[in-house]
Amino acid sequence: MKKQIAVIGFGAAAIGFIERIKNTDFEIHVFEKSKDIYSSSISGIRADGKLFVSKEMGGDIEIDLLLQKKLVDYYINHTNRKNVETGRSFTHDGYYKKFYEKGFQPVTSDFYHIGTDQLKEVLYNIYESFKSYKNIHFHFNREITGVEITGGKVKLSNGKTFEKVVVGVGRSGHKLVNSIITKYPELILDNTKVDLGIRYELPNHIVEELNREMYEFKIRYKSKTGYVVRTFCNNPSGFVVTENYDDFTTVNGHAKMKEKSSNTNFAILVTLKFTQPFNDPIGYGSYIAKLSNLLAGNGKVILQTYSHFKNSKRTKNLYRVMPTLEPDRYILGDINLAFPRRIIESIVDFIETLDTVVPGVANTDNLVYAPEIKFYSNYLNNDKFNSLYFIGDCSGATRSIIYATAHGYLVAEGIM
Ligand SMILES: Cc1cc2nc3c(=O)[nH]c(=O)nc-3n(C[C@H](O)[C@H](O)[C@H](O)COP(=O)(O)OP(=O)(O)OC[C@H]3O[C@@H](n4cnc5c(N)ncnc54)[C@H](O)[C@@H]3O)c2cc1C
Repeated sequence: MKKQIAVIGFGAAAIGFIERIKNTDFEIHVFEKSKDIYSSSISGIRADGKLFVSKEMGGDIEIDLLLQKKLVDYYINHTNRKNVETGRSFTHDGYYKKFYEKGFQPVTSDFYHIGTDQLKEVLYNIYESFKSYKNIHFHFNREITGVEITGGKVKLSNGKTFEKVVVGVGRSGHKLVNSIITKYPELILDNTKVDLGIRYELPNHIVEELNREMYEFKIRYKSKTGYVVRTFCNNPSGFVVTENYDDFTTVNGHAKMKEKSSNTNFAILVTLKFTQPFNDPIGYGSYIAKLSNLLAGNGKVILQTYSHFKNSKRTKNLYRVMPTLEPDRYILGDINLAFPRRIIESIVDFIETLDTVVPGVANTDNLVYAPEIKFYSNYLNNDKFNSLYFIGDCSGATRSIIYATAHGYLVAEGIM
């Protein structure tokens, strides 16, 4: 009988895993909680789709640049039009020096932007191609709630037992991962970090030179508070959106290939690294998110102008910059009522210093949305059991489409 592998979740990591292992005699069963391939909850490759080739971002594992580029091409080849925006960050020496001089660490990368609109067809086309393989079986509407290791095999909560189980449930699968690590705490290697911050929105013309030069500008900065602050997910002519977790709402941003706005948005995130005995950074971040939602109203986020954010005053009116977030998704307020002072000070220091490189970034009427949070999953040990593996974002090793896909790909190689 063929060896049976279960893959839990059909996201970026699962795609990399299946792509690598599909031509073997393993029988692959994919259990996905979303009801079908069209579901809006399926996979992280639905929004934005900026693919990076970089050693400096995307995850905490070493991924060869050639493999990264190969996977970028794989995704582009699964679009219908094969038409993507491309660019490079900080290859221009002048820009690199300008940022470096003011204390920023520029992050270099190549990027390929597929866009939210084309992403749907990518996921669908990949699914269709996998489906044509006789040894790959998809089971939708199957949420796995737990696993049990018995006699070298793994039993899933649906009663089925497999030689190997690969968990690729991303961040949305945190309940399953929690249930597994509660049962097998020896799997945890590290859990100490959370990134907390804001989404910043300003008119395109302030950052148009930067956007033209590199589309995605990623920088890190050690602020005067000692915290490291970074930009994340820059969206020229983009849109701010909310993102719903099980019990709170955060802010996010994306850009589309066709529809464009007159604003640029990006996240400004402060990395908080806790020390023992505290070991619940996800709990900490969630409480701050919930407190922000409490002030904003259920399912809403707080919006404030930059000067009010800096001076801790409630915003009641906006001036020149108009939000791209839908009006029923935010409330004008004061983020200082929800965020600890050290985080606010780090963000203000970052914006003020950035303004010395890009004038206009600290304009009083630029927009600040909160909360924006990036959780780091617990870093999990894939060498603990010979039958249970974690791939992609839920493993704590990755934070991006290409790194998650590559991680799946490499774990498949290891198993083969
Ligand atoms: C709004 C947004 C925009 C983003 N934009 C970008 C970007 O432009 N570029 C980039 O590189 N990264 C981006 N990311 C991050 C990227 O989406 C993730 O890093 C990547 O998708 C992680 O892949 P994954 O396979 O680990 O998880 P996912 O792609 O999230 O896939 C996990 C799958 O598991 C399923 N699942 C969850 N729990 C269970 C369960 N218990 N049982 C069965 N199935 C389950 C989910 O339904 C989902 O389909 C973005 C993320 C978000 C939220």
